[in-house]
Amino acid sequence: MIKPDAVENGHIGAILEKITGAGFNIVAMKYTQLSRRDAQEFYAIHKERPFFGELVEFMTRGPIVAAILEKDNAVDDFRALIGATNPAEAAEGTIRKLFATSIGENAVHGSDSDENAGIEGAFHFSGREVF
Ligand code: GDP
Repeated sequence: MIKPDAVENGHIGAILEKITGAGFNIVAMKYTQLSRRDAQEFYAIHKERPFFGELVEFMTRGPIVAAILEKDNAVDDFRALIGATNPAEAAEGTIRKLFATSIGENAVHGSDSDENAGIEGAFHFSGREVF
């Protein structure tokens, strides 16, 4: 996902260019907005964390871009491309270093395993929306 902060700041095009330039194929994509229920479900793993309320508020405050990306070693390579959760700790040239503002408002989400990539892809897209 391209998160609401990056959409608000006009970074959709630049982020997609970094993603495709790094060799990822976009096999599904949509511009949409998460409801509170969507965000609570998507981030259910973090529901006991102190920042959960803030995370749900942030992720629902405006539109996002959701996409499914395809590449060999996609999960690890995408996490390397986006950089550390906290942009202050993200490597130079990573998407979060370039476009994120804080540990909460960090521009992009990437799945952390192949299994979660499957679950998260199915959360956003039906089979007819994947090419
Ligand atoms: P990720 O896999 O790099 O996205 O990081 P995590 O799975 O640990 O956290 C999920 C998301 O929760 C992050 O991308 C942030 O948007 C948010 N988050 C993580 N830590 C914090 C925090 O300390 N404060 C706030 N406000 N949000 C956080």
